[in-house]
Amino acid sequence: MPSTAPLTPPSAPGLEARSESSPAGSDPERALLRHLVDAVSDPLLFTGPEGKILMANARARELLVASEGASEGRRRAVELNQQLFHTALVSAATGGASPVRRRDLSLLDPMEGTDLLFELDCTPVQEPGSPPGRVCVLRNVTDLGRATRALGESYRRLRASEQEARSERLRLDLVLDSVADPIILTDPSGGTVLMNDPAERLFAASHDSGEATRRRAHTNDAHLSSFLSHLLSPGGMRRWRGELTLVEPSTGAPLPMEAVATQVLSDQGEPTSIVTLLHDRTEAREKARLLEQLTTASNELEAKVHTATAELAEQNEKLRRQALQLEQASAAKSQFLANMSHEFRTPLNAILGYTSMLLQGVNGEMTPQQKRNLGRIDSNGRHLLQVINEILDITRIEAGRMPLNETDFMLPELIQEVMAEMDPIIARTKLAVSTSLEPELPELHSDRQKVKQIVLNLLSNALKFTHEGSVQVIAAYELATSTVTISVKDTGIGIAPEHQEKIFEDFQQVDSSPTRAYGGTGLGLSICRRLAAMMGGRVTVQSGLSQGSNFTLHLPRRMRRP
Ligand code: ADP
Repeated sequence: MPSTAPLTPPSAPGLEARSESSPAGSDPERALLRHLVDAVSDPLLFTGPEGKILMANARARELLVASEGASEGRRRAVELNQQLFHTALVSAATGGASPVRRRDLSLLDPMEGTDLLFELDCTPVQEPGSPPGRVCVLRNVTDLGRATRALGESYRRLRASEQEARSERLRLDLVLDSVADPIILTDPSGGTVLMNDPAERLFAASHDSGEATRRRAHTNDAHLSSFLSHLLSPGGMRRWRGELTLVEPSTGAPLPMEAVATQVLSDQGEPTSIVTLLHDRTEAREKARLLEQLTTASNELEAKVHTATAELAEQNEKLRRQALQLEQASAAKSQFLANMSHEFRTPLNAILGYTSMLLQGVNGEMTPQQKRNLGRIDSNGRHLLQVINEILDITRIEAGRMPLNETDFMLPELIQEVMAEMDPIIARTKLAVSTSLEPELPELHSDRQKVKQIVLNLLSNALKFTHEGSVQVIAAYELATSTVTISVKDTGIGIAPEHQEKIFEDFQQVDSSPTRAYGGTGLGLSICRRLAAMMGGRVTVQSGLSQGSNFTLHLPRRMRRP
């Protein structure tokens, strides 16, 4: 058994050992007491009024008194322990007489070098005739401290996982409630564990809802249970998909549902729950019905289009045949007209020839009356000849039998000739007729006869439809486009915009009434436009009612066959 030893460490400040002047044997009771105190495994100390250690049991000495020959490390540990112990005492109770209860004190184990935690418990004692002191007990709570810390850590972890589980559950609830389709979680015996709002509306009518609503929800629940029986029965399926016909609890409207139930297994493969997902097929069925209707309508439409296309093809064929017949008829007509015109012209020329001879007095002098009558025959004959010539031209052009004779010629000479030919007619008017020719007009390569015919026609129209004012023939050349323009500009009756295109068609006149004031066939401009086109040119008009007209022939300097 260890014996108490005097506390006389050379380097421990405040330590003072009670003298061992009287050995243990001299006071058997005291020796027994020392043995008893040494046998206590916790450190026991007796301190003086200043906190000096006066007595210590074996364990206290291990911690607070360095034995002779102790290593340097242990000696240092003991010194540190002394200081810590002293500080704890001083800071706990200065004056020495007050008790110190349960104060934590950390010391170093000088043998092991590990940290030790003690609970310091000091009780003041006062023996008669002795100075006051304190009995201090240091209870080793190192393991208790560790255990407390471990417990605290476990508790903290528990709280954290509890928190985590709660948030997980919240998240799950949010997810479930944000899904529009009903979701039900049941335990392996079929008891409902969880359902989202849409599922609740179907299967769990609240108490305040009507009797009918509750009954329908109950019926829905029964349907669901019978659906789940496929998974609940021993050796049942792990996953089951099928159709469920439920009803809307509040209205009783049928709800065709597609349902999928899946068993959730534990790590050991044991069923822990069943998740059932329902999906309302009403919309899908409606879409399918509409699609079917649409397909039927589309097929019908396709059939109609097919029939219509066939009819159209038949019509087209008919039209094509008719067009061919018309073309042939038109060609025959043109041929007929060409022949007839020729047949007309020959006798008419003879009539005009003989009339001219008679007018010149070849068969003797005639009375003025006879002359007037013959003059009428002559002018009507000439008019008829002009009509016949125009018809002949049109038919020739249409039949593609109008020949083109290309030559090089100068425009001023041509215009001179036109003016000369029209001179008798000009003379009968009171109009100021003039020409304006650009000095640098180039030589033209085209059909001179046809150019002349067009200018004659335009000028004769201008003279016909102008009662006062002027008629001007203007020729110019546009270098950039190599185009010659011959314009016939008058101050006559003009043409309204709505008639300006029509007058270029065959037999079209602005005034086509039987009482019209101006003669003519309505063929002149049509011929002009066609002849111009044959030479790569065109005829345009600028006019307005009562604002005069300006007809222009545009011709490429060198003729271009279309
Ligand atoms: P026609 O002169 O034989 O009737 P045209 O084809 O030459 O046939 O002319 C067609 C119509 O265009 C004329 O009837 C007339 O109404 C109109 N027209 C032609 N030139 C002029 C013009 N210079 N001023 C007014 N109207 C005109």
